[in-house]
Amino acid sequence: MHIVMATSEAIPFAKTGGLADVVGTLPMELVKLGHHCSVFLPAYACVKEVLQAGRLENRHWNLSEGVAEVTIDHAGMACTAKIHRVRLDPHGVDFYLVDQPMFFDREGLYGDSSGTFGDNSGRFCFFSRVVVEAIEKLGLAIDIIHCHDWQTGLIPAYHRTRTQNWNWYHHAASVMTIHNMAYQGRFWGPDMALTGLDGRYFNWQQMEFFGDLNLLKTGLVFSDMLTTVSPTYAKEIQTPASGCGLDGVLRARADRLIGIVNGVDYGVWDPSVDEHLTMKYTVENWREGKGVCKRQLQESLGLPMRPDVPMIGIISRFAEQKGWDLIIQLMHWWIDHQDVQWVILGSGEERYSTPLSQLRARRPDRIAMQSRFSDSLAHRIEAAADLFLMPSQYEPCGLNQLYSLRYGTLPVVRATGGLADTIVDATVDRISERTATGFSFVEYSPEALADSTLRALTIFRESTDKWGGIVETGMRQDWSWKRSAEAMLGVYRRAREFAAMEGRL
Ligand code: ADP
Repeated sequence: MHIVMATSEAIPFAKTGGLADVVGTLPMELVKLGHHCSVFLPAYACVKEVLQAGRLENRHWNLSEGVAEVTIDHAGMACTAKIHRVRLDPHGVDFYLVDQPMFFDREGLYGDSSGTFGDNSGRFCFFSRVVVEAIEKLGLAIDIIHCHDWQTGLIPAYHRTRTQNWNWYHHAASVMTIHNMAYQGRFWGPDMALTGLDGRYFNWQQMEFFGDLNLLKTGLVFSDMLTTVSPTYAKEIQTPASGCGLDGVLRARADRLIGIVNGVDYGVWDPSVDEHLTMKYTVENWREGKGVCKRQLQESLGLPMRPDVPMIGIISRFAEQKGWDLIIQLMHWWIDHQDVQWVILGSGEERYSTPLSQLRARRPDRIAMQSRFSDSLAHRIEAAADLFLMPSQYEPCGLNQLYSLRYGTLPVVRATGGLADTIVDATVDRISERTATGFSFVEYSPEALADSTLRALTIFRESTDKWGGIVETGMRQDWSWKRSAEAMLGVYRRAREFAAMEGRL
């Protein structure tokens, strides 16, 4: 099959969250399984920087600039994008970069320090329209168009409604993946004009949501198959509590919705190959390896260099979803009473970074906190920490708990979405069966987080053997992309079957 993905972020070019990891890695896995994969991505300023750095480092990237040019009538203005193609060796995935400086050549993907960009509907309507036209212009013979999140939600609508009579529409089926229901691309109704679609689709069963244009809903309505990033999240988003207003749309299409847990790129996130670590380690020598990494991190962050003190790591966006209110409350309770070190890395809202900085100023011997995005530090925290906290309000899949499992860093999670699907709570029975991999709790409260974290600390301090058993069970698990890619191929086949049954292929 030839699969084309359309996305607003993908590693190694542009990343704000887990979406980038998924779309950067899944295509490579599909290629390994014998398929052809291409990815469309806006050519943001950061993408150009990565290309420039790649050039300087003589990376084997095969860059062809200007392989196509697409002009769109955007609100009465002719707006042109150049398409550049980069082939990432050795995996042979083609990235098509949509270069339109007015829309994309700026700092930030969706916003900057002054907030979200005001023209995001225009930017991603434009991107989606360019993608469908570029596939035709480039003559790509494709079987699947796979869209990710609201930024590309219009593409299944163009495909399904056949606004233009493109050849590829008759040969491909569409799949849409929801990475987070909370981000829907909801804009005021008159932006419908930017889509170039007939106004009759602006109705409550298709593109309209309480008078607004909703791009995620559009994708959910028009795609042949829908996926999300864990089976539990697939169930949760069909309920009013977690469906963010679109649970009815999803219930109506429940036969098309499948949850597949994301994979981990063990070429990058595995302590036995991790170039960021002072000492690489495996399940055979994790105590020594983690000890060396912990000492190095304590030294570099100015924390007391004590091997015995439990280190709690957190790497996350400063956003409400991630449970920072629980974490901050717990830190207040424990700051003078629990002998633990906190190592926190995050970026985002000041309402969380400010109280965390204040806590750090009070006890710099117990708390290290950095408010920035640092991939290298993220790797070093995963290796050095003993515990990793993810008390999310909701978590579609979550990647850090999967990284933590491989790094021997026991996750303490709230049992929601992908966290519920991937972490087995360390109850007495599960510890003795050797199936436990972490600690989980259900109620969203600081007390419940405190209970689970204390359970973990007690085992850490009092029972080295039990702790080691849990660590090793987690380290031996396989959450690689191969499993997810195979499941996704099943989804692509079903999408094609549905499209054929409906006479569209
Ligand atoms: P989400 O996509 O909701 O942000 P995920 O757990 O799915 O959450 O993915 C988050 C990804 O972003 C992980 O790879 C994590 O390591 C990374 N990440 C988040 N914040 C930072 C940060 N400040 N610095 C480095 N990496 C970060």
